[in-house]
Amino acid sequence: MTDLQAWLPRAVGAISAWEKEYGVFAAHPSVAVSDDALGAAFDRLVERLRDNYPFGHPRYVGQMLKPPHPAAVLGYTTAMLINPNAHALDGGPATAALEKEVVARMAGMFGFSDHLGHLTSSGTIANLEALWVARESHPGKAIAYSADAHYTHSRMCQVLGIDGISVRSDAAGRMDLEHLDEVLATGRIGTVVATLGTTGLGALDPLPQIVDRARAAGVRVHVDTAYGGFFALVADDSTDGVASAPYRAIVEADSVVVDPHKHGLQPYGCGAVLFRDPTVGRFYVHDSPYTYFSSDELHLGEISLECSRAGAAAAALWLTFEVIPLTDDGLGQVLRANRRGALEWARLLGESSVLTSHQAPELDIVTYFPTRESLSQIDTASSALFHAAAAGDPAEQIHLATYSVTAEAMAARGHPALADTTHARILRSTVMKPESEAYVPSIHARLEHLAGKQR
Ligand SMILES: *Cc1c(COP(=O)(O)O)cnc(C)c1O
Repeated sequence: MTDLQAWLPRAVGAISAWEKEYGVFAAHPSVAVSDDALGAAFDRLVERLRDNYPFGHPRYVGQMLKPPHPAAVLGYTTAMLINPNAHALDGGPATAALEKEVVARMAGMFGFSDHLGHLTSSGTIANLEALWVARESHPGKAIAYSADAHYTHSRMCQVLGIDGISVRSDAAGRMDLEHLDEVLATGRIGTVVATLGTTGLGALDPLPQIVDRARAAGVRVHVDTAYGGFFALVADDSTDGVASAPYRAIVEADSVVVDPHKHGLQPYGCGAVLFRDPTVGRFYVHDSPYTYFSSDELHLGEISLECSRAGAAAAALWLTFEVIPLTDDGLGQVLRANRRGALEWARLLGESSVLTSHQAPELDIVTYFPTRESLSQIDTASSALFHAAAAGDPAEQIHLATYSVTAEAMAARGHPALADTTHARILRSTVMKPESEAYVPSIHARLEHLAGKQR
């Protein structure tokens, strides 16, 4: 692995050499701190940071979390030493140019020939912008999203004063097309949100069919692929790839959101929104008395709802894409390893007598539960297994996540457990790190052992 202990001093050296070209000066006493004071505070910080989960370890297979790639850390740190602001070209032309390049590469990944887009602080803000453009282009119309869509869509509809309509999910956690037809027939909908890679199950909404229906109804389509977007690189129906049809249809959508801080190896603070029609830029038109002086060229703040944003995020993503490009041979190999890990885990669950697979993974998210007779027992046993797996010697701990499912969702998948409660927690594992693939058999064996002991 790239050795950051060697690389980070190079970042500091390179930027201070550039700064020295402008002349050397002394820092003001008000910001001077002694090495002793900083060292003591630093030690306290490191101690505080121990209260964490080992997100980078292959045995952490819980939430959608992992440390950034060393290239991203190096790119971020190097640019952060200058601290450019992506809002305007006055805030740093270099990172604005890098941002336009990485955004164009992501647009190319989705097959967009033309686009308008930019990085954001998160998928939440990226989706907010997409829904805001949805409102501006279809004023007074509602927005439809599936029951399994990220909760941000209903919340942002509230923020924007738009009616949000929830469309039922089917037994695979995908948008139910019959219900979508009913919802579209009301004539109230202006935009349908399709999710490629639901946050809970990693399910892929049937985008080609959604696009057809939306077009026939004169309705826009927004694709929220914050989590699953980079799987477009391996959407080839191969054994360690993912379904091609939903990904191929992205090119027909009006807007798309992808989070480089999820599967793009980036630190938090990096989402992205892309629009297929660059003329939506008209909705953003505003003037700023503070900025936009340096040139007539497009400033990113002119096509973004956010003002200040880290230029360092663009530098991090750019450096990462330079060494791990958006190709099957590049980032695709990371995603294929994750996918193989998830598929192998699902296969092992299929053979287990103490654990049951909730549904087949479409991406790299595996859901399962201890086999029991009732939902309340499944709930208790899932929670107990979650805690037991994470307990004990740090060198053996396995970190999982839980996920709440409804009695209807369990019944729809044919799980025979008695519905004595409305909801149950089950277990959810995101196989987000390629290193986890090799650990799946031992993780599964240990979970089976612990689940067997609980009975
Ligand atoms: C993570 C996620 C979001 C929210 O993005 P943040 O970057 O966490 O703000 C929205 N939609 C989907 C499908 C997601 O997976």
